[in-house]
Amino acid sequence: MSDITTVIPTHDTVILGSGCAGLTAAIYAARANLKPLVLEGHEPGGQLSITTLVENFPGWPQGVQGPDLIENMKQQATRFGAELKMAHLVSVDLSKHPYVLNLGAGKDPIHTRSIVIASGASARWLNLPSEQALIGHGVSSCATCDGFFASGKEIAVIGGGDSAMEEALFLTRFATKVTLINRTENFRASRIMLERAVAHPNIRFLSNTVVEEVLGVEEKDVRGLKLRNTKSGEQTDLPVSFMFLGIGHIPNAKMFYGQLDLDPDGYILTHGNVFPTHNGVDVPGVFACGDIQDRRYRQAITAAGTGCMAALEVEKFLEEYGR
Ligand code: NDP
Repeated sequence: MSDITTVIPTHDTVILGSGCAGLTAAIYAARANLKPLVLEGHEPGGQLSITTLVENFPGWPQGVQGPDLIENMKQQATRFGAELKMAHLVSVDLSKHPYVLNLGAGKDPIHTRSIVIASGASARWLNLPSEQALIGHGVSSCATCDGFFASGKEIAVIGGGDSAMEEALFLTRFATKVTLINRTENFRASRIMLERAVAHPNIRFLSNTVVEEVLGVEEKDVRGLKLRNTKSGEQTDLPVSFMFLGIGHIPNAKMFYGQLDLDPDGYILTHGNVFPTHNGVDVPGVFACGDIQDRRYRQAITAAGTGCMAALEVEKFLEEYGR
């Protein structure tokens, strides 16, 4: 922070994002009596809210549905006094303290002593014009949300990581046939997920293949995919009625460009897990946790872990600087 203003802050801490990291930070901050405000953002609940069974979150031997896990965390946070607000942050000013959060025209700005950035990452798209034109008309990045609409249809899933495997397996509940299209012959997916998908009789794999166009723009409904084999150059049409993307995520850190140090892909750089910097210098009272700063582990449990750390650092910061 370069300047200290005389504005009286409305909050001790504001948490940006309501996924696993943000809600864990909210639970800890609320239990420390900091009455955190959680801005839920444009994807409330984060990635867990659009996933299905989470089998690796400790304490759930039979697994737990992602949306249920998030709902439980929300209840846990609000029980201790966290306030959840559906709001979309337009801009943040980290140049003055208390920090200013701008929620858009007609809405009062929020002044806060500290900020926990837990705004996560959003689904990546292929960015083909035909794909963009057909989002919501047979193109989706959320199998859990839209899987039902694929009932009785032949569909495609794009990607070679765990998300793509999970989506493909989930979608076999609805679709008659799932073609999984990976741009190389190497898979980022964990062995167990890949083996499950390979073993499924209704999933077939197309490797070294890219989507060049989604067919059906005129009809406003996916009719198929124009594919190219990257090794042979051969082009083919695949008749499918739905395309689901499972090709990773982009960090939601745009509003911190020029205010915090980011890596080339836009993830917030941190040291000590949760301390972001600006031009290499710590930004007091600002902490980042979860997928916005973690491109290596990206797990629900690691997001929760850094959310906890961020809240503990908020407590220490407020003790030091006063409330
Ligand atoms: P990953 O980054 O692991 O995989 C992304 C996949 O999409 C890769 O195969 C990548 O190909 C491909 N891809 C990226 N961009 C494009 C593009 N423009 N066109 C075509 N293909 C593209 O992301 P995930 O979302 O799968 O996983 C992220 C993390 O979340 C991982 O740590 C994963 O383990 C975890 N996860 C765990 C789950 C679980 O345990 N149930 C479920 C889902 C995710 P390439 O390899 O060529 O770059």
